[in-house]
Amino acid sequence: MAITVHETRAKSVLRKAKKIDSWFLSCYGMNLYRGCAHNCTYCDGRAEKYNVDGEFGRDIAVKVNAIDILHREIDPARKRVPLKKCFMLLGGGVCDAYQPLEAKYGLTRRTLELFCAYNYPVHILTKSTLVKRDADLIEKINNSTRALVSMSFSTVDEKISSVFEPHVPCPQERLETLAYFKSRGVACGMFYLPVIPLVSDSPTQMEQVMARAAEIKLDYVIFGGMTLKHGRQMDHFLDVLRQHFPQHVPAYADLYPGSQWGQAKRSYYNEINKRFYHVLKKYRIRPRIPLSIFNTVLEQKELVIVALEHLDFILRLQGKTSPYGYTAYMISKLKAPLPEILEQGSLKSIRGFGHATEKIIREIMTAKTCGYLSSLLSG
Ligand code: SF4
Repeated sequence: MAITVHETRAKSVLRKAKKIDSWFLSCYGMNLYRGCAHNCTYCDGRAEKYNVDGEFGRDIAVKVNAIDILHREIDPARKRVPLKKCFMLLGGGVCDAYQPLEAKYGLTRRTLELFCAYNYPVHILTKSTLVKRDADLIEKINNSTRALVSMSFSTVDEKISSVFEPHVPCPQERLETLAYFKSRGVACGMFYLPVIPLVSDSPTQMEQVMARAAEIKLDYVIFGGMTLKHGRQMDHFLDVLRQHFPQHVPAYADLYPGSQWGQAKRSYYNEINKRFYHVLKKYRIRPRIPLSIFNTVLEQKELVIVALEHLDFILRLQGKTSPYGYTAYMISKLKAPLPEILEQGSLKSIRGFGHATEKIIREIMTAKTCGYLSSLLSG
């Protein structure tokens, strides 16, 4: 596949979120490239919403001045308000930080050098084995603060992968890469997403994925369904589906009636979550990054928000409701420090918030652990 490289100059690089993302443990992300030569069929990055110019998998913009800009944005000496203590996310968005052009431009490696120099923890999410090139830096960051290496999978079936993600290393190579980082003491996991409706979402396939994850003792497997936004993303995906799995095409119209975020019907997500939970219990792998891996990294407020969201997620997987998700959201909205929020009783108006929730929050604040979360994860 011929690639056209567009060297561009960025005005800013660091993307700041208002609230910590409890999947990635990050408030900060970046796209060093725009467009991705991996060109996965289901990639959300090609949706019009993200304004990537040209053809997503062929026209790749390289932000050649990204390192200078980023340096200014993260240098603690230049900041009146320090950046929050959390993981810097390299991955997601509109590119893979280790897509093939990275071998030539080295923007990701130079970014890791900056993180290493300023002691920022990093979370890498990629589909490329090129990440092994930077094992020295990743280990160094892991030893001084913390590094996480995650790889994403829609399946471990080599044939299905070759149809939907033809330009990335095969699942076996990705699993070997994770095993390699595990052997070097880096916490590793799988983003098992997007699961492709009717193609890679059967209980048997989920079982295969979790068995492989258990074999290499991954620290977590984070599961999610697929979104398909109408327009470029859906058109491209359906073209490929039509060629290889034409029998499933009619069902997609019903599954994806059209929502702003490209979500499938709620009932479908409920169904696959149920399937996943069933397999998860058998393999006993954490469906979120365990607290013990990051409890010394995050600030107190962020740690509480993430732990509450993890609690909420697991209870929802079990088909229950909880006040924890909304409590986490409210905490993120309030500017005051957490002890003050509790002292003033600012959370008491939340439905379901009571003594038990407050006790959980205080435990996380003081001990940096959560007995309830541990019991749910091992239950
Ligand atoms: S590797 Fe990620 S960013 Fe790149 S095409 Fe695939 S899904 Fe999109």
